[in-house]
Amino acid sequence: YADMAMYQAKAAGRDTLRFFDPTMQAELEERSQLSGDLYLALECGQLQLYYQAQLNDQRQLAGAEALLRWQHPARGMIPPDHFIPLAEESGQILPIGQWVLQTACRQLASWQALGVPMPQLAVNVSARQFRQPDFVEQVNAALRDSGAAPAQLKIELTESMVLDNVDDTMAKMQALRALGISFSLDDFGTGNSSLSYLSRLPLDELKIDKSFILNLPHSRNDAIIAQTIIAMGNGLGLQVIAEGVETTEQRDFLRAHHCDAYQGYLFSRPLPVAEFDALRQQLAKPDQA
Ligand code: C2E
Ligand code: MG
Ligand code: MG
Ligand code: MG
Repeated sequence: YADMAMYQAKAAGRDTLRFFDPTMQAELEERSQLSGDLYLALECGQLQLYYQAQLNDQRQLAGAEALLRWQHPARGMIPPDHFIPLAEESGQILPIGQWVLQTACRQLASWQALGVPMPQLAVNVSARQFRQPDFVEQVNAALRDSGAAPAQLKIELTESMVLDNVDDTMAKMQALRALGISFSLDDFGTGNSSLSYLSRLPLDELKIDKSFILNLPHSRNDAIIAQTIIAMGNGLGLQVIAEGVETTEQRDFLRAHHCDAYQGYLFSRPLPVAEFDALRQQLAKPDQA
């Protein structure tokens, strides 16, 4: 392959490397650069958790989702979709994931100490992190060290993750559930669901993927999918939450079909903790409905 590239480069003339796509090369360089920077990010305190509110039917705070942010010193805020896949590949997701769990648990404990009611905080976990043999112990340690209440911690898993190794998934979920932790199935509807397996997992919540919410209520197909997920979730005794709710029309459609909770820009973006606390206080005022 290398000989071939050399041959083609020679044939094309001295300074031409037609064989190599320059945008692909730029992308590779970008990735290795970011991956290098990420090693420093944890140590230098460039990672932060943001919190996005989840509301129930009565417009009360039902919980929040912790979402990771990387404040890069030169590039500014880098969204998780850009660096989490890199961190999964390099293994950096393991210390990062542990930091996320610890930080989320410390935040829960701090709210508790302040007397702030916070029903639940949902934390995203990556496949590689979840597959660690000591994952259960890591969660337990984060709870123990912080003093956070296990009942306030919710772990978000995805369909592909849980179905990848059902026995291992089941064992971990049962052990964590015995500690009092609950589970949400994130991005529901986008994976390769085996519904019979899913119904056997000790889940508490289904989270309808935002791609099905985006075109509600106008897209007939998405309307049917959303409606069906809600009915199935409710039938299985699960809470159903919609992510990516941006308009009152979407919320009204979901509410008419008995969705339990909502998360999206209609209510709030993910916020740094101080701003989230301000929103929380606002929502707690009785005249806000
Ligand atoms: P996710 O867990 O499905 O999180 C929901 C994403 O939807 C978040 O993107 C959130 O900001 C975005 N979102 C919320 N409401 C709306 C809305 O109304 N409209 C639109 N267009 N988007 C909305 P974000 O924060 O960029 O995170 C992207 C993904 O990165 C997450 O998807 C999750 O898979 C992953 N992620 C985030 N934090 C962590 C983490 O701490 N650990 C791991 N392993 N993954 C994380
Ligand atoms: Mg999530
Ligand atoms: Mg999601
Ligand atoms: Mg998603």
